[in-house]
Amino acid sequence: MTDAIVFLGIQGSGKGTQAKLLAEQTGFQHINIGDLLREHISLATDIGKRVSRTITKGSMVPDELVYELIQASLHEECPGIIFDGFPRTLPQAEHLVKHYRLARVYYLDLSEERAIARMEGRRVCKDCGSNFHLVSHPPKQEGICDECGGTLITRADDAPAAIKKRIKGFFAETFALKSYFEKLSVLISIPADNPVSEVQSIIWADALLG
Ligand SMILES: [Zn+2]
Repeated sequence: MTDAIVFLGIQGSGKGTQAKLLAEQTGFQHINIGDLLREHISLATDIGKRVSRTITKGSMVPDELVYELIQASLHEECPGIIFDGFPRTLPQAEHLVKHYRLARVYYLDLSEERAIARMEGRRVCKDCGSNFHLVSHPPKQEGICDECGGTLITRADDAPAAIKKRIKGFFAETFALKSYFEKLSVLISIPADNPVSEVQSIIWADALLG
């Protein structure tokens, strides 16, 4: 069985960054489900077309399709996998445990208030799509894109009501996953308010000894 490490965390918790850093260090393959889905949709692969159809109908992407997507993306002779954005449900977590040797789950714990603050600060250029953040990556000139001079706007899904809804969904979904992984004694919670380098050293100290 292939080794697997899972990163759980809300948007803005830095889980994508940490997953990528650990993948570079260990040689494990980093699988970001959201990116994979977008890639398959934009390349209009067979899987991508099926995913598009379910999204158009307003349904969740079925588990079987997610598993197929993962299977299709695995590199041969990969020493292990770092999952980012998977699992999202208990059945997916059970599938993972059945098919991989789950070494560790890192939960990057960001409080609801901090998650809101991080999401509310996001701005995107309406012309070229460049991303900015009022706190962590501000534009040189307020409201203006550094890349093209276009106007920076707040994405519809970063509006306060949409953020609240997304956060509520995340915590509901993650609560069940956390207790499931706790019972398996693989879960480590790390305060995600810390700087990237501190979170990184906690994870590396654990992962590279394990
Ligand atoms: Zn721009």
